[in-house]
This record gives sequence, C-alpha cells and structure tokens, in this order.
Amino acid sequence: MSNFKKNYELALNNAKRLSDKILIDGKLISAQTDKKIPVLNPSTGENIGSAPQCDKNDVNIAVESAFKAFQKWKKIPARERGKMVAAGAKRLEERKSEIETLLSLDTGNALRTQAVPETAASIELTNMFAGLSGELKGENYPPNIPNTIHYTTRDPIGVVCAIVPWNAPLFLTVAKIAPAIVAGNSVVLKTAEQAPFCALLLSEIFQQELPPGVLNVISGLGEECGEPLVTHEKVRKVTFTGSFSVGKIIAKKAAPKLCPVTLELGGKNPNIIMSDADLDIAIQGVIDGMRYTRQGQACTAGSRVYIQEKIYDKVINGVVEKLSKLKMGNALDEGSDIGAIISEEQLKRTLHYMDIAKQTSSAKVVHGGNQPTGGDYKNGFFYEPTLMSGVPVDSPVCQEEIFGPVACAIPFKTFEEVMQSANDTPFGLSAVLWTQNLSRALEFVEDIEAGFVQVNQCVAPRANVSYGGLKMSGLGKEYAFDSMINHFTQSKTVLINRGKSNIDN
Ligand code: NAD
Repeated sequence: MSNFKKNYELALNNAKRLSDKILIDGKLISAQTDKKIPVLNPSTGENIGSAPQCDKNDVNIAVESAFKAFQKWKKIPARERGKMVAAGAKRLEERKSEIETLLSLDTGNALRTQAVPETAASIELTNMFAGLSGELKGENYPPNIPNTIHYTTRDPIGVVCAIVPWNAPLFLTVAKIAPAIVAGNSVVLKTAEQAPFCALLLSEIFQQELPPGVLNVISGLGEECGEPLVTHEKVRKVTFTGSFSVGKIIAKKAAPKLCPVTLELGGKNPNIIMSDADLDIAIQGVIDGMRYTRQGQACTAGSRVYIQEKIYDKVINGVVEKLSKLKMGNALDEGSDIGAIISEEQLKRTLHYMDIAKQTSSAKVVHGGNQPTGGDYKNGFFYEPTLMSGVPVDSPVCQEEIFGPVACAIPFKTFEEVMQSANDTPFGLSAVLWTQNLSRALEFVEDIEAGFVQVNQCVAPRANVSYGGLKMSGLGKEYAFDSMINHFTQSKTVLINRGKSNIDN
C-alpha cells in the first residue's frame, strides 16, 4: 500500500469516528442539535463527515461541564497540572501520525510541508506551557504598613471560551488551551466549521490525562454557536483567532460583562527587500514569507512584496524560478509541496481578487494566475501560487487580506518611501526587512507598525516567540510565557497584618 493510501485511510477512519461528535465531560457524545455541517476534503471536494451545528443548548451543556470541572481543577497545584499537561503532550506525540494525516485531510494543507511541522510545533508548545507551570507566581512587595505582608497572586480566571479558525487549527488550538489549562482554567473550544476534526482529535487525545470537563469541544457556526459561548455568563475569558470583522463583534459582545478578550486577527504584511540584501536568502524569504506552501492562508503572509528598483528584476526572476519548482497536489500525497485552498468559498475569494487584478490595466501576472481543473485537481479547491506586478498600492488587491496564494510585487526607490507605504494600512500584524545595513534595520524596527517584526529571516510564529498584532490586527500576545500570565490568570493584592495590638509581646 502506498503511503498516500495508508495516510488517507488513517485520516478518513478518524474523520468518520469523530463525525457528528462533540467532546463534553471527557466523552465524545452526540450533540443536542440535529443540524449538521458537512465537512469536505479540500483536495477532492468529497464529503468526509459532518460536524454538529451546535446552538445555545449545546453551548450551555459545554459551559456547565467546564464550570463544574473548574471548581476542582483550580485547586490542583500548578505543577501537578503541568505534569498532566506534559503527559497529554506525550500522548499527542505517540499518536502524531493520526493527527498529522487528519490535519491534512481536514484543511487541505500539504502533509509534508505543513501538517507534519504544525503537529510537531503544537506538541512543542504544549510541552513548553506544561514546563512553565511552576512560574505561575505573583510578587512580594516590601510592606509600607508596619507588621504586614504584602503580595499579589496569580489565580485562574474560570471558564475560558476559545474560538479558532481553520488555517492552522492545531497550533492555534494549543496556543489557547495549553496555557489556559496549565494556569488552572477550564475550556470550551469552538472549532472552525471548515476543519473541525483535527482539533477534536487533538483534544480527545490530550484530555485523556485531564479530569473530565477541563477541556470541552463543540462545533458550529459563528452567530449560532460562537456568540452564545462568548456571551455566556459563566465564561470569564475569551480568546479568539480569526478575521478582524469577527474579532470586532466578539469584543463588543464580551464588553457588557467586562470579560477580557484576546484577539489574534488578520494582516496585510509587508516583506521589504533592500538592494543591499543577501538575495540568496531574501528570494527564498519571499516564498516562505508568503506561505505559498500553505496556499497563502496565513495571517502573517507577506503579501505585499516591496523590492528596491535596482534589484527588482533579479528578485522577480529568482522568485519565479523557485515558484515553478513547487508541486501542487493532493494534500495527503507526500510529494506535494502545496495543497488545496480550504473551501469553495475561499477559492472564490481568491478568484474575486484576481478578477480585480486582471481588470487593472497596469497589472501583470508574473507567475501563476490560474485555477487548475481536471485530472488530479478535479473537484478540489486549487489555485496556482501567484505573483502579480503593476497592481496599484491602493487597489483592494494590495490593501485587503486575500487569505489565498496571491502576492503583489511593488517596486520602490527609497527607504523612506517604502516605510510610508508599508505602514499605510489599518493592519499591523507582521513585517520583514532584508538588508545588510544595521542602521536601516534598527530604523525599520523602530518605525514599522507591526507586532511581529523580523530582519533577514521570515520564520512562522512558534513556541516561546511572543506573537500578536498591532492596530486592527489584534489585542494581546500569544505563544509565550507572558500569554499565560497576562491572558489566563487574574491577580489579587493581599495585605496580611500580624493581628496583634502590641507586636513586642
Ligand atoms: P473567521 O473570523 O470567519 O472565523 C474564525 C472563527 O470565528 C470560526 O470558528 C468561526 O466560526 C467563528 N465566528 C465567526 N463569526 C462569529 C461570531 N459572530 N461570534 C463568535 N464566533 C464567530 O475567520 P476564518 O475565515 O476562519 O480565518 C481566517 C482569518 O483568521 C483571517 O483573517 C486570518 O488572518 C485570521 N488569522 C489570524 C491569526 C493570528 O494569529 N493573528 C492566525 C490565523 C488566522
């Protein structure tokens, strides 16, 4: 049996087993609702199962389960909680081939280039937070009132609502559930309707080391399931990754109960190549930065590629040469570098922006620009990795988040000019500069309006690299120690007096 067939069967069996299930109080169960959301394999368009379309009844059951579990979980010493989470990570490691293959089947992200590294990064992140359990401590202050002890605590908040998108559903799930749970909270996770199974599988395996109800998973649509979860009176913290438009709704819905919200939202990120850059790394950095091997479906995708005029042709030629070598195909085929776009809806979004670009007289397709059909691509949601030139910077193609495999190359003359253009966006998620001029690099770091800034490299966010956006790209940072402390604990200030009228006796 070829690996493809083996991988496919492994993933499909798990999808079928998890179909129509939610995870409540430690068990996979059927939901209250009879409504279902069909789940498709993006590589082939075939139906691989369905997810319950939960509404407020299932939300209530999940929150009650989490609330009950929280009463005991918060009392377990932090390091014991950390040990359980580490044991959960070990289980994930033991079953990683199931997780990787289901991630690939669910999302259409290529197994070798995306699903395998995302699974490894998720396990690493889980282990990192488990190891930080002993650091959940407050501060001790020198007392300014005689005979007192003055300190602060770091306590769990309560039931956490975690809502994730479909593009990196495992890593984004772990970035929320691991620190929340280590910090002593319980969680209700709402998966993304397009890719619910991989996050459910990860949670099912992971929570086997936790008391039932500490981690609950439901599925459903935004308004019908996400909103009642956000507004539920027993939910005391909301952590959300997704689009700006939904992030704004969530912030508003959580506001009346003064519920703290973490938001990781979209971006339209500049990737700037100065003429003094080392082009051997910068050209590859355009490919990596645009996340072409995830079909451009990354919040950090460097979709505005600024190239200084002197080296413009050389960079374009280098990028095109590398793009031509990438193989697009079924996500579960280990030969594929690039998989499929998540859904027909997202594919249409890419087609819409490409229509705008193609109707612009100055615009030119430098590479790609086609939707392959027939043969291996029949019924799947594929679009070629695409690089455009000549698109005006004020075009929606250059201003709005496409969340597909389309980048725009933009020539520039001076550093001042490119900085002005790079910052001319309501987003502020990530930014990259390629230069060998240290002074320029430092000026860039100081002036660029982005929360995740890199110079001469373009790696994806990972464990222990504090990550989050500025401006319309979000509120708060994730993936590092500060995210656990700042987002998943609350603090009491305590003054204890020795309680004696005469301390000398
Ligand atoms: P989306 O905002 O449409 O949906 C995200 C999640 O929110 C889904 O689970 C969805 O069901 C839920 N949702 C939708 N409406 C809701 C509502 N009214 N109330 C509660 N929940 C609701 O985003 P998407 O299309 O799934 O994902 C793509 C977006 O996510 C892009 O904008 C991308 O940039 C962003 N993203 C950001 C990061 C980051 O870390 N900054 C990472 C990945 C993706």
